[in-house]
Amino acid sequence: MLQIVHITKRYHYQKVLDDISLDLPKTGMIAIVGPSGCGKSTLLHIIGGIDQDFQGDIKWQERSVKKHLSHYSQKHIGFIFQQFHLIMWLSVHQNITMSQFFQRGGGEENLDIDDFQNLKMSSLSLGQRQRIAYLRACYQPSDILLCDEPTGSLDPVHADEVMNLLKEESKRRLVIVVSHDLKLVERYSDEIYTMCDGKIESHQCFRHTPLTQNKIVSRHKKIFPLLRLSWMSLKSHKGRSLQLIFGLTISFLCIIMTLTMSRGLETQIQNYIYSLIPSSCISFQAHNHQSLTLDFVNELQSQPSITRTQLYLQEYEFLGIGFVGERYQDSQVLFIGDDASPYQDIQLDMGQYPQEDHEIIVSLSTAQHLCKDESLSTLLNKKVYAWYQYQNEVKSIAYQVVGITNQTTALDTLYQRENAYIHLLKDVYQFDEKDIQSDLGMIYIHKDYQRSEIIKELKKQYPDYKFLEVGATTTQNISQSMQQVRVVLMIFSGLAILSSLFLIGEVMFLNVIQKKKDFAILICFGARRWHLLKIVLFESLEIVLSAQMICTGLYYQLLSLVNVMSQELLLNNHLTLSFDYELLLFVYSASFLLVFISQLPPLLYVFRLNTIAALKD
Ligand code: ADP
Ligand code: MG
Repeated sequence: MLQIVHITKRYHYQKVLDDISLDLPKTGMIAIVGPSGCGKSTLLHIIGGIDQDFQGDIKWQERSVKKHLSHYSQKHIGFIFQQFHLIMWLSVHQNITMSQFFQRGGGEENLDIDDFQNLKMSSLSLGQRQRIAYLRACYQPSDILLCDEPTGSLDPVHADEVMNLLKEESKRRLVIVVSHDLKLVERYSDEIYTMCDGKIESHQCFRHTPLTQNKIVSRHKKIFPLLRLSWMSLKSHKGRSLQLIFGLTISFLCIIMTLTMSRGLETQIQNYIYSLIPSSCISFQAHNHQSLTLDFVNELQSQPSITRTQLYLQEYEFLGIGFVGERYQDSQVLFIGDDASPYQDIQLDMGQYPQEDHEIIVSLSTAQHLCKDESLSTLLNKKVYAWYQYQNEVKSIAYQVVGITNQTTALDTLYQRENAYIHLLKDVYQFDEKDIQSDLGMIYIHKDYQRSEIIKELKKQYPDYKFLEVGATTTQNISQSMQQVRVVLMIFSGLAILSSLFLIGEVMFLNVIQKKKDFAILICFGARRWHLLKIVLFESLEIVLSAQMICTGLYYQLLSLVNVMSQELLLNNHLTLSFDYELLLFVYSASFLLVFISQLPPLLYVFRLNTIAALKD
């Protein structure tokens, strides 16, 4: 049934097995005895398919298995080791049903281990460990059971017990027992091979056992077996894993918070700039810097896309407004930063829109500045004086406040009818409209129109004038510098993540080195290399996933906290940060990619793991 054909094994050119040939039956108890170091274990490892580096052949049911040794060992071989080779970070039950992690199957199982089912592996006695190793071998439905010194660490009473159990097993399958204790195996074996210096010296045959049918072991299918193994492995070094999760969470949180904050800040700054320089504003000038006429400005106004035009009289400097009209006093005048914006789209809080040139409306914040402690309604229909300076001559124009808008403006703002101040200044300083000296005008366009489109149109219509977007370069510059700041922030936080991820790689590498023997045991009980690779990979993914989950929760909490705090501290101009799903998705997927890369060294290590060397470790 099982034929060992001319097997030779060398360690560094020294022959450990020298042309060994055996012909073994389908069932029965075969003993291989011989002094320590004669090559018994080496022969057993070769028969078991875990040592694949040998000359010669193994035939199972007349067919050579050399080309598919892993398949053969997974399907047909079971092991009982002298040192038991149990995995400490698995439960008793998981140790016994180990082969089930790597094989498909279904059904029920009935294991008689209730007496120590719930004990920790590390607290088991020698006899109990022996029993688990035996149960594990029986649980695996193999045709051949290989036992390397199965009684080596037991007292005579327990040794007999185990030999009896193995004898029982040998009625259903082939049991090969390696031992240096000839007296013990003589009592149980059907055949005995004696080895010396890597050669078979003698062969004794006592009796032939009748063939019986293999016992069918009912088995229980495990759900996500490799995921469970990786989870058990993760739990076996809790401290280290928690530290990793903690570090990774912090670096995730750092990058996500900095990016969210910088993005929020940029929006806020852009909004602020927009409140100072509306994006609907176009400036115009004659190419030859000739003075603009009021007629030309009014002509532009007739276009449907333009809501308002305004001529700037740079020589008439606007000093601000106050309630005193007789004598200019700097301290009693409120400086007006914006007096040219259109007001058609703005909602009124109280009062009405200007009907006459001497009527104005002011923004809510400006009204508050003017009224100080008094109620806002006292301002309505009150006279205010606007002060202008022309060539050292400071004069005032009387206006009436007829309305208050609902906005809070960054600069103090008043609104009036188009070019009203020019009409009024004309009377105060006594000049003719024809004499107006101004080479700069402003156009405010309708919200529904594109600024660049209108500029194109205007340039075509009025080739003698140049039209420019107001504030475009400022916004662009700020956007650009924010972008640069963001790149620097990203690089730094990216480095933090990178180092944490490579730390995972490092820790996992240490981990697999520490667990190499356990991995070798798993290989003996049916694990393929890719099973082990998956376990390692799953473990690191579990760490990254936990960190990501914690980070997402913290991110949410932190955002609400920052929003509440900024609302309380900064009131009007508060920063509102929103939960950035895209950013999370980007950072998390990038981190998964990096984890795969950082896992290459441990994966490579597992892939090239030498099973025999690891078992002896
Ligand atoms: P046994 O099980 O009969 O005590 P082994 O099969 O373990 O003996 O070893 C047989 C011989 O092979 C010994 O001389 C041992 O020194 C040698 N040997 C075993 N493993 C290695 C190895 N990894 N490198 C070099 N020599 C080895
Ligand atoms: Mg040995």
